[in-house]
Order: sequence, then C-alpha cells, then structure tokens
Amino acid sequence: MRNFILLIALFFVTQWLLKKKLRHANERAQAAARTGGRASSLSARAESGANGANSASAPPQLADPLIRCAQCGVHTPRSESIVVAGECFCCADHTHRVAARPSGRDVR
Ligand SMILES: [Zn+2]
Repeated sequence: MRNFILLIALFFVTQWLLKKKLRHANERAQAAARTGGRASSLSARAESGANGANSASAPPQLADPLIRCAQCGVHTPRSESIVVAGECFCCADHTHRVAARPSGRDVR
C-alpha cells in the first residue's frame, strides 16, 4: 500500500518537473527568437512539437467562451448573451424577469 502511494506521488512529481522543463524550454525559445538565434529557435520548436502540439507558447483560447445564464443556468456564447447589471442572461426574457424582482439574486 505504501509503495502504491509512493508511486502516485512520484507520478505527480514527474508531471510537475516535465511541466517546469517545458515552460523553461518555451522561455528559452522565445528569448532565442528575440535575439535572432535562428538555429537554436528551430531546434527548440522541434522539441516543443515533439512534446505535444497543444503546448505551444500561446494557449488555445475559445473564440467565443460560454457564459452561464443567471436566471436558468443555460450556457450561451458570450456574443449571444445579454449582460444586465453585471449578470449574464441567455435571452432578453430572463433579464426582464430578474429586473422586475426587488432583489433578483436572492429570490428564486
Ligand atoms: Zn436563461
């Protein structure tokens, strides 16, 4: 049992070390690109590509993040949501219902 726990701990430590190493490699690649070291930046890029395409210098972001409706809890894209008094809603009907209440956040 103790060995099993030790294995799990070892796994997390190696994951952490790998992440740290990756971050360091990315920083080095960026620094090389800034100074103009073409060969070193190419090798660093190949290194990061081998470790995983999704671990690029810029993290992939959703173009339109989902926002939870304060009234019904439905998730809607930010471009389609309606923001009233700092709260997001999925449709105009829900904003009216909350606005009609004296304290929309507390009453359910
Ligand atoms: Zn809603």
